[in-house]
Amino acid sequence: MKIAITSGKGGTGKTTVSTGLFHIITRYLKYNVQLLDCDVEEPDCHIFIKASENCRYPVTIAIPEIETEKCTFCGKCKSVCAYNAIIMLPPAGYIEVVEDMCHGCGACLYVCPEKAIRENIKSVGKITHYDYYVQDEFIEGRMDVGSALQTRVIRETINHAGEDGIILMDSPPGTSCPVIATASKADYVIMVTEPTPFGLYDLKLMADTVRQLGKKHGIVINKAGFDYEPLYNFINENKIPILGEIPFKREYAEAYSKGMIPADSDVELRKIFMGIINSIINGKTL
Ligand code: SF4
Ligand code: SF4
Repeated sequence: MKIAITSGKGGTGKTTVSTGLFHIITRYLKYNVQLLDCDVEEPDCHIFIKASENCRYPVTIAIPEIETEKCTFCGKCKSVCAYNAIIMLPPAGYIEVVEDMCHGCGACLYVCPEKAIRENIKSVGKITHYDYYVQDEFIEGRMDVGSALQTRVIRETINHAGEDGIILMDSPPGTSCPVIATASKADYVIMVTEPTPFGLYDLKLMADTVRQLGKKHGIVINKAGFDYEPLYNFINENKIPILGEIPFKREYAEAYSKGMIPADSDVELRKIFMGIINSIINGKTL
């Protein structure tokens, strides 16, 4: 069962929930579990999950290069490119692939009648496997500095997951393509929010996205304790289950700022995380 942990904006507590659930399942529950850090632009689960590196794999794409002397400027490659990554100025004898926009799909290479296109392999990121309590329990995707192909690295990170047990996916924040690349692969989506106007605004966007993807979903309210009625009204009106509420406590913030997992030493929080996971898997065989 794949569970994506998302939030409409950064700083809401997504990583707190991902790493807290992972640690609690690993230490206290009977299920096989893997944590995938799919927030590949700035992965930070490793700060809390102190695991030892096992192995590393490169993520690459094939970037086309056009040999101008062979090119007849027929324009077929430019027409087929869905990402507008080819610039062509026939009167100036100029044609070039914009690397940052190219997704390495290979369509231009396929349609070129003059065989004027060859491919160069380029690194866009890396996948690192870590051993936590068990081998390969934690997998991190990380983009290379300067690369713009988040979704490519996310897809590859998810491909590295095993088949069994619970796969927790720490998603990038927001509602754009990288989130879709993560949430679309999930069986269940946890939306983390906070009881503030900003939290509610972003939750509405996230809930809309998840509904359109047709995914089962529920909410975790982080920094709970402020009676912000509009949030609860929205949740009730839309009949979204609240999986758990993590209270706003100074001790949690202090532990988090030191790279610790507060649920490890706090029984109340541990019960909340166990409640979250139990409400999701209730009735399922893992
Ligand atoms: S490989 Fe695909 S994305 Fe890249 S330039 Fe060719 S058609 Fe466009
Ligand atoms: S398809 Fe080939 S020949 Fe035609 S413009 Fe592109 S590179 Fe040139």
